[in-house]
This record gives sequence, structure tokens and C-alpha cells, in this order.
Amino acid sequence: KDDTLKKIISHSKEYGFIFPSSEIYDGLSATYDYGQNGVELKNNIKEYWWKAMVQMHENIVGLDSAIFMHPTTWKASGHVDAFNDPMIDNKDSKKRYRADVLVEEHIEKIRGKIQKEVKKAAKKFGGSFEEAMFIKTNPRVLKYQDQIKSIEERLKKLLTEEDLKGVKQLIEELGIADPVSGSKNWTDVRQFNLMFATELGSLADGANKVYLRPETAQGIFVNFLNVQKTGRKKLPFGIAQIGKAFRNEIIARQFIFRMREFEQMEMQFFVKPGSELEWYDYWKNLRINWHKALGFNEDHYRFHDHIKLAHYANAAADIEYDYPMGFKELEGIHSRTDFDLKAHEEHSGKKLQFFDPEENKSYIPYVIETSIGLDRMFLAVLTEAYEEEKLEDGSERTVMRIPSFLAPVKAAVMPLTKKDGLPEKAREIINQLKFDFNCEYDEKDSIGKRYRRQDAVGTPYCVTVDHQTLEDNSVTIRERDTMKQDRVSIENIEQILIQKTSL
Ligand code: ATP
Repeated sequence: KDDTLKKIISHSKEYGFIFPSSEIYDGLSATYDYGQNGVELKNNIKEYWWKAMVQMHENIVGLDSAIFMHPTTWKASGHVDAFNDPMIDNKDSKKRYRADVLVEEHIEKIRGKIQKEVKKAAKKFGGSFEEAMFIKTNPRVLKYQDQIKSIEERLKKLLTEEDLKGVKQLIEELGIADPVSGSKNWTDVRQFNLMFATELGSLADGANKVYLRPETAQGIFVNFLNVQKTGRKKLPFGIAQIGKAFRNEIIARQFIFRMREFEQMEMQFFVKPGSELEWYDYWKNLRINWHKALGFNEDHYRFHDHIKLAHYANAAADIEYDYPMGFKELEGIHSRTDFDLKAHEEHSGKKLQFFDPEENKSYIPYVIETSIGLDRMFLAVLTEAYEEEKLEDGSERTVMRIPSFLAPVKAAVMPLTKKDGLPEKAREIINQLKFDFNCEYDEKDSIGKRYRRQDAVGTPYCVTVDHQTLEDNSVTIRERDTMKQDRVSIENIEQILIQKTSL
């Protein structure tokens, strides 16, 4: 699986999806640039999300708020005081880790042991009643489950109480070793704030300290009344936003999964107090269905309820995707209560309440948030799409089975040869299609090589102009997944592309 991530990284670079940032200077850690195909795929993912969230919901509208916000925003939101990760260093390897992640990885290892027992039981009993009973009563499984439960509870308590000494003690008791060096020689655990700070204007006395936003959500909260009033919105209603966020992550590795500059697609849904858990379930369901609608393997998704609830939440779950490095958070669904609006009321002295005409009173709405990392979604698409396929003739091709409505290039138009007026004809076709579809013209190399190149980018259709085209205005259209070629009339290409590649 490790191998898969490496392959995806090098494929991404070779085919213009993702480049390391400032590569000519040997890159900057945990920052990446999206190349010519990456930016198209990214834009298409944004559109897929925006359509599902904003366009399809009468009661959800969009917003594009500034990255810089008044510094008090982050005091109110709790980020100045509590947006910390517990960090620990290994004294021998000098590597830095998130202490809670070390413990969670240890828990994952125990989960792996349970999986082994489950597999053993399946082999022995083959899906029968006995299998289920065997797992339920297997003393080893019970022991592992107890271990997990007690470690999780202890970690949750330690983190809630910010007992950093206790976290270190837990790491030592569990015998957790540095994954790189195997050393168990740990420093104390310290809190590390994840926000990037900079200065506004020319005074450098600290009074002008501003932060790069660590989430887009707060821009939505501070605009709650602006949107509600000008949009004449009634509860429940939502505000959606796509934009950059910045976090000074302690461990930033695993390609675009954890970056210091990344993009979020967030939606805050304002509801009547008391109805929030109903809406929480509603959004959990809707969001997982959004993922499943992509047609990816459904076993690659799972829900994970948070061990440690964030300071603002009364319920929270992640949608995890099975990345090459295992199941990891792709999206969070959080019931944020009235924490944020209330805090902004207190810090700004401005009322942030909704007047409910039915109840004839004003109150602060409760909030359900859905928050998905665009880059993590991008990595999920790459992971799911990447395939090295053995063909019947014994050869191999690398094909990106990107859902066609997300594909960077919808159609490649290619003349079979560079002469006899075929390039001109191909240009004619592309000039008609380019108003509605991102197309590519390609005349270099053999047709077979060109098809492979498009497979590697994930282009769903290749339109080939040959000599017959000049006679009867027909072309061949080759489908990426099946590699089947059909002969169609030029005037039908547009209809085919609309049907198969638009959202
Ligand atoms: P993690 O536990 O993985 O650090 P988080 O719980 O801090 O994530 P949230 O604060 O819930 O993440 O942020 C919402 C979403 O933003 C996440 O589900 C994830 O998809 C994305 N995200 C968060 N941090 C990063 C990052 N450093 N790089 C890329 N995407 C991120």
C-alpha cells in the first residue's frame, strides 16, 4: 500500500496533476502546486460539491469571505487558546510527533489484531452463526476490545484536562516506540498552536497581529446576520464556502493529505435549538451519499465517531476514506451547538440572533457543520482512480478511472496523421467543442501512444479524425475504460459528451 502512495505521487507529477511547491529550490515542506490537469480536476471537484450543496438546496447560499479576519475572531472561536496539538519529540531520532496520534496509531495496531482474529474465524466457520458467536466470545478479542476502550477513555480524559504529563506517561506505559528509529526516549509533551501569525500594516509592535485563517467556518459565522437579513432566510438555512485555510501542522507528511496550506469546502447549517441532533443525522447521511454517488467502492468509506470532542461540539463524526496509508479523515460533520455565534456575540457586543416569527422570540441558532478538505478529496479521487491494468494482449496500461464529470480533460481530439488535411479537420471539431468542454488537441507520436497518454490523465473520450472523416464526416470515439471504439457522426459528438461527462 505504501507503494501505491509512491506511485500516485510520481504519476501526479509526471502527468501534470501535482508538483512540489518551489521545486527548483528543492521544495517547501508540506506545500504543493496543482498543475495543468490538477487544477482542472480540483475545479471540477469544487463544482461537484457546490452544485450538490448550494445549487440543489433552496435554503443554502454561498459566501467568499476574506482569509484575514479581525484578530478577536480567533480569540472568540477558541483558536488562540485551544487550537493546539500536543507535541512530543524523540530524543534519539530528533523526530517530532503529535502525541495523541502516536497513541491513536497504537490503538489502530490493536484493531489490526482484532481483524486478524475475525479473519481466522471467518476461515473456520465461513459466515455462519458460529462465526459471529466465536468473535463475540473469543477471549483474545475481548481483551483487545477492553484495551482499546481503556486507552481511548484515558486519552480522552487526559486531553480534555490538558494533562500533558499524563499523556507522556501513557505513551511510556504503552511502550510506544518512535516509528522511525524504534527508540522509546521521549521528551515531555508540549502544546503547540497551529495558527500562522503575521502583521498587518507597518507597525510591528504586536498590536497588529493577524492570523491566516485555520478554517473557513469563522468567516461564515461572522457573516451570519448579513446573509440572513439580506437573503431573507428563515431557519433552517445554510451558508457554504470554499477557500484556503492554513495550519502549522506538527507532522506534515503523506503528500497532499496533510498540508500547511490547503483548501476547505465548508457548510454551516443554522437550525432551531433542540433540533440539532436530528439535523446532524440528516447531514451525516446526505454527505456519505454524496461520496457514494461518485460510484467508488463503498467499502472504502466509513464513519468514525470522535474520541475527543472539540471544545465547540456536542456530537462529531468523520467520514474516513481508505487512503493508501489506511482509513483517515476526509470530512468532518460536527454539531457545533451555539458555541461560535454566542462567543462572537460576547466578544463583539453585537447580537447574532434570529427572530423566529412563529415563536415570536429571538434566539441564537444551533449549527451543524460539514467540512471537507478539497485536497483530501482530490487524493481520494486519485487513489480510487489509479489503476495499472493488464490487457489481454499482455501489455499494461496505467489508467486513471476518474468519474468522467470530474475528469480534467473531457475529450482529446486527434488527427490520425499530420497530413492530408486531417489536422485542420480535427481543429474544426475542437473549435466547436471547446465552448462547453475542456478539450485537448494532440497530434504527436503514434495513435497508440496518444491513447495511453490520455488514459494516464483520465480523459474519458478520444476523438480520432481519419481519412474516412473527410469522406463521410464520421470519426471514431474511443472510451477510456473499455477502450472500445465507435464510429459516430461529427454532429453527435457534442451530445455524447453532454450525456456522459457533464454534471
Ligand atoms: P486531522 O485530525 O486530520 O488533523 P482535523 O480534525 O483537524 O483533521 P478539521 O479541523 O475537522 O480537521 O478540518 C476539516 C477538514 O479539513 C478535514 O476533514 C480535512 O479534510 C481538512 N483538513 C484539515 N487539516 C488539513 C491539512 N493539514 N491538510 C489538508 N486538509 C486538511
